Amino acid sequence: PARTRFAPSPTGFLHLGSLRTALYNYLLAKNTGGKFLLRLEDTDQKRLVPGAEQAIYDSLKWCGIEYDEGPGVCDHKYGPYRQSDRTDIYRSYIEKLLQDGHAYRCFCSKERLDNLRDSAQKLKPPTTVSYDRHCEGLSEGEIEKRLQQGIPYTIRFKSPSKYPVFDDLLHGVLDMQPQVNSSDVRYDDPILLKSDGLPTYHFANVVDDHLMKITHVIRGEEWLPSTPKHIALYKAFGWEHPQYVHIPLLTSSSDKKLSKRKGDADVLNLRAKGVLPEALVNFSVLFGWSPPRDLASMNHECFSLKELTGLFNLNHLTKGNAKVDEKKLWYFNKHYISQRLENETQFQVISREASELVQMKYPNITLEYVQKVLRIVGKSLETINEFPDKFYYFFEEPKYHDSDFVSNFKDSHDINEVKLILKQIRGKISDNNINTLVNSAVQSSGLSKRAVFETIRFALAGSVPGVKLPVLAQLLGDAESNRRIEKALQ
Ligand code: GLU
Repeated sequence: PARTRFAPSPTGFLHLGSLRTALYNYLLAKNTGGKFLLRLEDTDQKRLVPGAEQAIYDSLKWCGIEYDEGPGVCDHKYGPYRQSDRTDIYRSYIEKLLQDGHAYRCFCSKERLDNLRDSAQKLKPPTTVSYDRHCEGLSEGEIEKRLQQGIPYTIRFKSPSKYPVFDDLLHGVLDMQPQVNSSDVRYDDPILLKSDGLPTYHFANVVDDHLMKITHVIRGEEWLPSTPKHIALYKAFGWEHPQYVHIPLLTSSSDKKLSKRKGDADVLNLRAKGVLPEALVNFSVLFGWSPPRDLASMNHECFSLKELTGLFNLNHLTKGNAKVDEKKLWYFNKHYISQRLENETQFQVISREASELVQMKYPNITLEYVQKVLRIVGKSLETINEFPDKFYYFFEEPKYHDSDFVSNFKDSHDINEVKLILKQIRGKISDNNINTLVNSAVQSSGLSKRAVFETIRFALAGSVPGVKLPVLAQLLGDAESNRRIEKALQ
């Protein structure tokens, strides 16, 4: 059984790419009968965004991704699960590294470090690995003196001269050495503890994954360069490292890296746009994972979270960048709206939502009426949000000009013919008699059946194909239907 975790930093709202990471970790844990954890990586105080932590909880809950351990859930196990509540733990582990000579205090001033960085940039080729290990050689006494003077310090990892090669379950064996220029003695000694006493991402991440007994880390490819550092840290502690799976980045359809800034890809934002959680889960799982071949060959691509739990495994992950095509999201949404409409309990929920939306604009419309309309037209909706506007003519008179009547025809007709048809049926709609009325109007006017249908439908609903005329008249009711015909004649 796998123990996996989702370890977001609460620095913004939960993004589609992060949702996918959470989902894969969740699915791997569930598929193997293991546990899925939520850990908040909130040690970078400057980057915290108010409300972001809550957005993580809300987004996961809404998508149905439940964690077995996390802040407030089974905390006694390996918790606390919020890194800012674990500072004592990190301190004790940093002590161990200091004692074993794998880490050292660095008292260098910002100015000195900036100079080193600048000079490293001027090297050929330039490098971001810039520290000269100045503080590594400080004697006990020198360290003590500086501590007493209250000089701020960080704690650095004494990185190995060569980083370990590692095996990524998706990419295979990777050898990722940071670019060190051999003609100049520079070291990539990452900071583990900052001068504010809080750990950096690298350090806290490794200590926690170890203490929380994580077996598999599934995370975005942007973390690949960090992985050798993490593995070196595990080695320094004498710990075994988890297995790594780095999943491809999401790009927009135009192949650009998906922007987090735009907000289009925020889970809660998508919820507000009327996206259903089933649709979003289905949409995101397919960025980098494909169903087993027998299902794929049948074009089977709609999967519930429960089905995914049974199907998911690491063998079907894909490597290339995953393109986000919003059209596909709406396709899934439509599919899941239809599915909900067919289930009576869910129909009640969704129709209540629809009715609230309608009533914001049309306070007199009843839930019962909304339900009748929704049963007929609901399956053509891509989102419930579009319902009040797309089908507005069920709630108010259609908006059109007389000239639209004529331009709406496929065949050529003129306004006199339109009026002729309307006069034939004026005041006569009652008890589902539309078809009879149409037939007699066709006979007495000599116009085509299609012209008559189109005219009446236009008078009742404006320019809209779709809902069949008898159904339309029935939903509107006899009185309203007759009134709309009358109005069209004015
Ligand atoms: N806190 C990191 C993030 O925000 C976690 C990366 C990892 O999974 O190791 O994505």
